[in-house]
Amino acid sequence: MNKKELHDTFSDLESQAAATLDIIKNMKKELSHLTEDNNVLRMENQHLRDRLAEIIKQQSLEKQLTDTGMTKSRLNLEKIYEDGFHVCNLFYGSRRDGDEPCAFCLEVIYGERK
Ligand SMILES: [Zn+2]
Repeated sequence: MNKKELHDTFSDLESQAAATLDIIKNMKKELSHLTEDNNVLRMENQHLRDRLAEIIKQQSLEKQLTDTGMTKSRLNLEKIYEDGFHVCNLFYGSRRDGDEPCAFCLEVIYGERK
């Protein structure tokens, strides 16, 4: 290798190194963008998970009520009715003679929710 060739080779290496350095700088910049995006997505994901857990918890609470078929207040009315008293608007609180069934009471206890 003569001096000219040696000089040219150095020049080539120098510009290659500069190009490589540019690539490294760009990759580093890209990496910090990705890290930033990743953090944002992570937080958003956590938020959505929390929200989902909340909704599932709420739904299972509502399901518990429908599993027994009734809300607490309806269960109370059912107990009073089974003890032999009317819970309907017409005869509320009066005794059911001979445990006669009352359609109005049954409607109050088991009827469609309003
Ligand atoms: Zn009744």
